[in-house]
Amino acid sequence: MFLKRLSDLSGTLAFRLTAWYALIFTVSSVLALSVFYYKISVITQDDTDRELAEEIKEFSSIMTDGGGDQVKKYMKVEVESEDEDIFFRLLSENGRVLAFEGEPSWNRIKPAANIFNILQNNKKNVLSTLAHPDFQYKIRTIYGLIGPAMILQVGISLEENEEYLGILRKLLLLLIFPLFLMSTVIGWLLAKNALKGVEEVTLTAIDITKGAYDKRVRVKNRLYEINRLAETFNSMLNRIQSLIKGMKEITDNIAHDLRSPLARIRGIAEMTLVGKSSVSKYEEMAANTIEECDNLIDMINTMLDITETESGVLQNNYEKIDLVKLIQEACELFRPLAAEKNIHLTMNFPDTLEYEGDKRQFQRLITNILENSIKYTEPAGSVFVSLESDKQFIHIRFVDTGIGISEAGISKIFDRFYRCDRSRSASGIGLGLSLAMAIANSYGGDIHVKSVLNQGSEFQVILPVS
Ligand code: ADP
Repeated sequence: MFLKRLSDLSGTLAFRLTAWYALIFTVSSVLALSVFYYKISVITQDDTDRELAEEIKEFSSIMTDGGGDQVKKYMKVEVESEDEDIFFRLLSENGRVLAFEGEPSWNRIKPAANIFNILQNNKKNVLSTLAHPDFQYKIRTIYGLIGPAMILQVGISLEENEEYLGILRKLLLLLIFPLFLMSTVIGWLLAKNALKGVEEVTLTAIDITKGAYDKRVRVKNRLYEINRLAETFNSMLNRIQSLIKGMKEITDNIAHDLRSPLARIRGIAEMTLVGKSSVSKYEEMAANTIEECDNLIDMINTMLDITETESGVLQNNYEKIDLVKLIQEACELFRPLAAEKNIHLTMNFPDTLEYEGDKRQFQRLITNILENSIKYTEPAGSVFVSLESDKQFIHIRFVDTGIGISEAGISKIFDRFYRCDRSRSASGIGLGLSLAMAIANSYGGDIHVKSVLNQGSEFQVILPVS
């Protein structure tokens, strides 16, 4: 059970972060403690060496003042007065022992060979550490010239130093475990804190799976990466929610707006059935049914296009398009309709104006507005189309002298299926402007309308240059 929990835990990011933190912290601490220990051992040895050098200096002056006998006497005094284990050995230039004071067994340690020559060549004291199988602790000794042919060897047991360093070593070793424990706890807390945001994202995702679609991750003063994750997650949720909303609107619209055309089709069929059934009647019914069905298909397709454009799921074919050419072609397409109504269609365009976009979408944007301008303008009126651009925006204007739109109507004409009262006699389903607005919005643009009833309207498509 415990092993299973441990193996589950070892797969978590928090566990790995903690393990790395504890490892790096402990290794760094061990390194720092080792350096500390090394420095302390160097300092203690330096102290001992300084003490030994002092002895040589002191005995040099005794030698100068009182000669060899005085030295020997003072050696005895020193050994008796010192607390530590110390020995003194007076040597002649050829290495003969002239006097020894200290623990007698230490005298078994042989003096270094040729020490007189070494001292003369080096011109300074010679220090060394000796280990003797008979003694537990090492001995630090110094050889120094205290007279013309007189060498003094002083040796001190390193017992005190070694014991002190031994205690220090044990203390430092004991510190490693608490340090490891502390680093694990700190690492765990840090990892948990850093991953708190991720945990919140997970919990929110779980809530959303259970149906809480409005739930969002709180963006707080957290680490930059976690905040970015929370923001991206929230904007993804907003996007999904707007898609769901769009789909819901579509089903609502289908339920609401497709009911009447379907009822009409049913009515046509019913009338034919109950009336006198001649072939011509059946032909008329078939023609009417086909027309109503075409309208229905057109309506469904346009609704789908609007929803797809608004939600951004549409696969756009981006290419460089010449807006001048595209609008000119649209005007030419509608020129016969304008001519039929005796409407004066005029244009004002620059030579060329390139824009990156989906050609088919732009064609629909332009034709939807242009068709309205001609459709809602009385015979003998006029429609003017122009294209301009400044550093920031492109302006496509459609000005007509048509029936105009009331103030209340202006705020609603971009709603799906909305049609002003006065235009109901004209053909249309009330989706053209909704699609036009959805396309303009998908490029970061907008459509502005100015209109006066019975005088005319101006539709202006504004698109950002980049
Ligand atoms: P429709 O299929 O009815 O033309 P639209 O979405 O294109 O649908 O337009 C919505 C409504 O806005 C129209 O029914 C009409 O009442 C009004 N409208 C649009 N363009 C004009 C215009 N140029 N002049 C007057 N009314 C307009």
